Amino acid sequence: MSRVYNFSAGPAVLPEEVLKEAAEEMLDYKGSGMSVMEMSHRSKTYDNIIKEAEADLRDLLNIPDNYKVLFLQGGASQQFAMIPMNLMKNKKAGYIVTGQWAKKAYQEAKIYGEAIELASSADETFSYIPDCSDLDIPDDVDYVYICENNTIYGTKFKELPNTKGHLLVSDVSSCFLSEPMDVEKYGVIYGGVQKNIGPAGVVIAIIREDLITEDVLPGTPTMLKYKIHADNESLYNTPPAYGIYICGKVFKWIKKQGGLAAMKEYNEKKAAILYDFLDESKLFKGTVRKEDRSLMNVPFITGSDELDAKFIKEAKEAGFENLKGHRSVGGMRASIYNAMPIEGVEKLVAFMKEFEANNA
Ligand SMILES: *Cc1c(COP(=O)(O)O)cnc(C)c1O
Repeated sequence: MSRVYNFSAGPAVLPEEVLKEAAEEMLDYKGSGMSVMEMSHRSKTYDNIIKEAEADLRDLLNIPDNYKVLFLQGGASQQFAMIPMNLMKNKKAGYIVTGQWAKKAYQEAKIYGEAIELASSADETFSYIPDCSDLDIPDDVDYVYICENNTIYGTKFKELPNTKGHLLVSDVSSCFLSEPMDVEKYGVIYGGVQKNIGPAGVVIAIIREDLITEDVLPGTPTMLKYKIHADNESLYNTPPAYGIYICGKVFKWIKKQGGLAAMKEYNEKKAAILYDFLDESKLFKGTVRKEDRSLMNVPFITGSDELDAKFIKEAKEAGFENLKGHRSVGGMRASIYNAMPIEGVEKLVAFMKEFEANNA
């Protein structure tokens, strides 16, 4: 068996320990004689799995009792519609557009009401986070929406926007559990798990209880109501059962690493290795304004499309996979999520140095 260093933006690297444990339990989960994949989601055994996953997530994020945790499907993209359907009481919402995912959410919201672009960094290819300390926000918006870590461009909100008392909704798909968060500052936190937590197919939404009501937009399908999932503890219909089981294992793995503060420290250390090199390199350079750099997604370029392509090819041959930048921006991107070991980043930087020397 040989594992590569996988720098994919998602689905992405998972802790080896978790994969091994899942492999060991594949045929016979704890004496049940079956795989979690084959198990009724109404069984006692599965109930323990989902309950324990939720309890561990609550522990990690310190989620207050007045917030519900929902395990949903449909990808992060389904939330682009679910959020306005469930929260747009005044049919008006503000969006901060800091990349493709925020833009998609903004455009989707326009189907359901008036979506207002409060700020944008489109003028400089989303390479920075706009100043959101004093935005012009209409009084009657139902919420202010952000994409907290911009997976494609490698920017991150280091400070939350001043929403002037309005509800904050945040897509944290690509920074979920990478560092501590103050849940109480948000109305809704959600993310697809395939970036930092588990296999594609699960979306986790953390929602303040008072926002979960029957008062949704007319025509909202049953499956897209937060309330139906909250009332049924994420078991209204068959949940993505196996995916949730893996997420639960990752929660335990993060706890074993020391929780989110320790995770943040580790992620900062990892990212610094790469960013420090980008700052001193004469060939490679980062594409993001320094103070807005993401700890999770690190885009960089050589300035030449040919050299970029050569680098990606040679890196792959050397065991560094998925370094190609998003199709909309080109260049390279190293996604260094929680489960990327520090050795992976050290070895990547050593390889980049060698490449630079050979191509000077
Ligand atoms: C990947 C990603 C999405 C889309 O996720 P899907 O699960 O594929 O719908 C949305 N937002 C962010 C920030 C992402 O990184």
